[in-house]
Amino acid sequence: MTFPWQDVTWVLLDMDGTLLDKHYDDYFWETLVPREYARRRGLALEAARTDVFARYQREEGTLNWTDIDFWSRELDLDIPALKESIRHLIEVHPDTEDFLKYLRRLDKQVALVTNAHFKTWRLKMNHTGLTGYFDEIISSFDLGFPKEEVRFWEILQRQLGYDLAHTLLVDDNAEALAAAQSHGIRHLFFKAKSSSQQPPSNHTSFTTLISFHELMV
Ligand SMILES: [Mg+2]
Repeated sequence: MTFPWQDVTWVLLDMDGTLLDKHYDDYFWETLVPREYARRRGLALEAARTDVFARYQREEGTLNWTDIDFWSRELDLDIPALKESIRHLIEVHPDTEDFLKYLRRLDKQVALVTNAHFKTWRLKMNHTGLTGYFDEIISSFDLGFPKEEVRFWEILQRQLGYDLAHTLLVDDNAEALAAAQSHGIRHLFFKAKSSSQQPPSNHTSFTTLISFHELMV
């Protein structure tokens, strides 16, 4: 594939799973949080997992889902402190920095577009040192809607002023891509290899990227 870069002005990039290894988030929510919840409440680990996962399920696709202050209250745990405690596990995907440098060379406008809470993206950007590659960093908390809703993209477009036909989005969340597609963003790619510890996922109607290098030829 030779991608028509001359058609693109704005590049919108998701953070978790797309630029950063989702293993950090999977480990955090699936292992560390249930373990701490069990310890705090004196529960068996399996009972804690069942309870915590049911709570996650209720909030999927909402702003609460990535609101770590919500989860601190909901689970009675200090979620930001727990995230800090495993910051050494935050990893950048091996293809990410090459791609960000490539976009700089092509002189594209680049925005980080994430559902992550500002405390989370700041922790991750400080840890990885990627902040300088972005012209804008936008969280769904700033806009009041998660990326799975078309409203998010409508407000984002007003804010950044991008032309739909000349914008590219890469995300590992097919629902976010679908909302962006309804909104009219032209170039959409699904990042299939979101975690270093999981095989690539392939159940999507979008063009799939295993590595950003596929866009760099
Ligand atoms: Mg993601």
